[in-house]
Amino acid sequence: AGSGKFFVGGNWKCNGTKDSISKLVADLNSAALENDVDIVVAPPFIYIDQVKSSLVDRIDISAQNSWIGKGGAFTGEIRNRAPAYQTPLDGLRQRQIKDQLKTWLVHGAEQLIDIGCKWVILGHSERRHIIGEDDQFIGKKAAYALSQNLKVIACIGEKLDEREAGKTFDVCFQQLKGFADYVTSWENIVIAYEPVWAIGTGKVASPEQAQEVHAAIRDWLKKSVSTEVASETRIIYGGSVSGSNSADLAKKEDIDGFLVGGASLKGPEFATIVNSVT
Ligand code: PEP
Repeated sequence: AGSGKFFVGGNWKCNGTKDSISKLVADLNSAALENDVDIVVAPPFIYIDQVKSSLVDRIDISAQNSWIGKGGAFTGEIRNRAPAYQTPLDGLRQRQIKDQLKTWLVHGAEQLIDIGCKWVILGHSERRHIIGEDDQFIGKKAAYALSQNLKVIACIGEKLDEREAGKTFDVCFQQLKGFADYVTSWENIVIAYEPVWAIGTGKVASPEQAQEVHAAIRDWLKKSVSTEVASETRIIYGGSVSGSNSADLAKKEDIDGFLVGGASLKGPEFATIVNSVT
């Protein structure tokens, strides 16, 4: 692990029922978790409220997606911003509450923030390759989420054929550029390197394979954004992380944590992964 605070996210994807989620929350609530780790879980949207009201505050909540702009007629999407602010105020009233309004606009009751989310996962390979989201669309979503005070877990990663064709770095850099073209600050971004061939397959990247790409990502940030962003941005690994491989991965200097899918649905195993920080 590097010098930044270790970060472990659990991506529950489209899994769970009210009952299974109660059990998972109870397991997480009773788990012994290292103090010096940022822990985030991303339940399906429809269970976020249930999780928020029952999970210990120590664990933050992430959404698994958010819409590109302020919302409106976009059936099925999740809006960041509440409609109240779209109602024009008369000039006098607007001046009277100008400062307050400014605060509301920044910290207001956006839908995701309103229900207790601090994070959103964007650019996940399942959305890139199954739903068809492209780099620009994802970059715009990230910029909008950040503007509404949601922090972003920005996912990138190559497919197996791209790795075999020697294009791993090109693909990752291209996807990183998709974020860099739209965001103005990296302060509230965690980058998740998730090779597609490792997601949900049980074929975890070796610590050396992951470290090689993490170091390349840091180098790209240094050259394309700044030295400061390169050293301060956390780069986490995702792809078949489990309680039995996380400790070895966590030893690598550029691996600042994990994004965990399948194993995050088992409370005790997720706790083991959180506690693998070195
Ligand atoms: C993920 O979906 O982000 C992921 C890494 O999944 P898994 O851990 O199941 O490979």
